Amino acid sequence: MIPYGRQHIDDDDVRLVEKVLRGDFLTTGPAVATFERDVARYCAAAEGIAVSNGTAALHVAMLSLGVGPGDEVIIPPMTFAATANCVRYVGATPVFADVDPGTLLLDPEAVAGKITSRTKAVIGVDYTGHPCDWDALRAVTADRDIVLVADACHALGALYKGTRVGSIADMTVFSFHPVKHITTGEGGMILTDDEGMAARCRLFRNHGITTDSHQRDKDGAWFYEMTELGFNYRLTDIQAVLGSSQMKKLDGFLRRRREIAAKYDSLFAACENITPLETKADCEHAYHLYVVKVPDRKAVFQHMRQSGIGVNVHYIPVHFHPYYKREMGLKPGLCPVAEEAYEQILSLPMYPDIEDGSVHFVANELISVCRKNY
Ligand SMILES: *Cc1c(COP(=O)(O)O)cnc(C)c1O
Repeated sequence: MIPYGRQHIDDDDVRLVEKVLRGDFLTTGPAVATFERDVARYCAAAEGIAVSNGTAALHVAMLSLGVGPGDEVIIPPMTFAATANCVRYVGATPVFADVDPGTLLLDPEAVAGKITSRTKAVIGVDYTGHPCDWDALRAVTADRDIVLVADACHALGALYKGTRVGSIADMTVFSFHPVKHITTGEGGMILTDDEGMAARCRLFRNHGITTDSHQRDKDGAWFYEMTELGFNYRLTDIQAVLGSSQMKKLDGFLRRRREIAAKYDSLFAACENITPLETKADCEHAYHLYVVKVPDRKAVFQHMRQSGIGVNVHYIPVHFHPYYKREMGLKPGLCPVAEEAYEQILSLPMYPDIEDGSVHFVANELISVCRKNY
């Protein structure tokens, strides 16, 4: 089976991880600080806070903003459940705003319609690796005290109007799961330019414990205080060194992903019933996913799987999940654009190591099944 996504690990990655394993620090040590600097620098952000996974990064972002019971956070339904779950973790309410029909990205006008006096934050998801319209999202939230958070788990390396994702929203969250652009096995990071937010993220990552050096001098080196109810969301040095090694290859990964997308685009150009998602000229796509809309998606999906092609569907709208139906009483009809798109979307294999021959095979299978059936 050709998978839809897969990591690339080479001998350098293995050698560097082995070196850490034989060294002094296994959990958070100097490699974590280096990895944080590597990602923050790449994205032109002031601060990076590495955590144990992307979901933890979203949770820490909500905690650091003080989002809690009674607060609302606006999110799109076309995302992984974790985007909504992080809001629930802190006892707040995720409010679903619909997406744009062409890009399936959070629609700024829909966001504007969902803003209330309780809205504390908007989490824009740079779905598939295409940045949201951050200027428009900023415009609809500007005159209120609403924080913009980017769930950029798909979009490491993407550009919006020439600016790197990671330094656009007030906080940006990445995941380093093996299907994402770079991997640490499990891992995540929060980027921000705000020192106060960064300090609070560090606090919540480590049990809510502060170690103030002045106080240590005064009271003794054993001194620490737990000032918030935090978590153990630390990344290990074993993972962080892998992350830094992967960062060196990121530009190559992105180049290859864009090359694969261009191949798919040109092969589908003549095929009327295969519609790739729209891309905006002022953005550079990072292509975590390559999503097309097809007729009779269920039959097409089955045909592709039977041909040994690991197509997938990203995503079932979050408000369709039984938990959200049960706990929040959400029903189909809430976000009609996302719901209609859900019936049509298919994610095709997209990862740096896929061979050109496989890309052609995937495209030809899809073209032939779409031609045959319709
Ligand atoms: C992968 C992903 C996450 C969660 O990241 P993990 O590292 O798997 O916890 C959150 N949001 C989106 C959009 C993702 O793709």
